[in-house]
Amino acid sequence: MRFITFLIFLNFLNTAINAEETRQVDQHEHGVGELNIAIDGSVIDFEFMLPGADIVGFEYEAKSDEDIVKVNEALAMLDNYKNIFSLPVNSNCKLSTSQISLKEEEHDEHEEHEEESHNEFYAKYSFSCGNIQEIDRIEFTYFKTFANSSELEVQFISNVGSTSFEVEGDAPFILTEGKI
Ligand SMILES: [Zn+2]
Repeated sequence: MRFITFLIFLNFLNTAINAEETRQVDQHEHGVGELNIAIDGSVIDFEFMLPGADIVGFEYEAKSDEDIVKVNEALAMLDNYKNIFSLPVNSNCKLSTSQISLKEEEHDEHEEHEEESHNEFYAKYSFSCGNIQEIDRIEFTYFKTFANSSELEVQFISNVGSTSFEVEGDAPFILTEGKI
């Protein structure tokens, strides 16, 4: 059983790597953020890839003071995960590490529309949980924090298996009971 679990997890890693390779070719869809949730033992990781259009309303390189302020405010909002999601209190999860950045798309010189850029915000949060089985619901404050957002595509993996969710602002949560 442990072996099967390990294979499933390896498969997920491959998928994640392939997705990363594909991302550099395909452009993201505005209005749709991506989230990978991975659970391993008492650790839960959240990795968000969010179109700049959804976060600050533009994806070109911020040069004006006004745009630079917007980017810095967005990074500050992302820096506090509670602006993005929340976990049940009784799961006793504590943030251990986080990484927030703005990823500027590298232009492919063969691309026809070089003037178009598609910057994304990247946020990764890792938690260590006292009672990870108590995570039966994850709420997303993200949709209220960033009003231009409309959807999150969630890939969820744990020792139980993998599943996916599409989350929108009118029902901003996922139910994970039995999936951890
Ligand atoms: Zn874009």
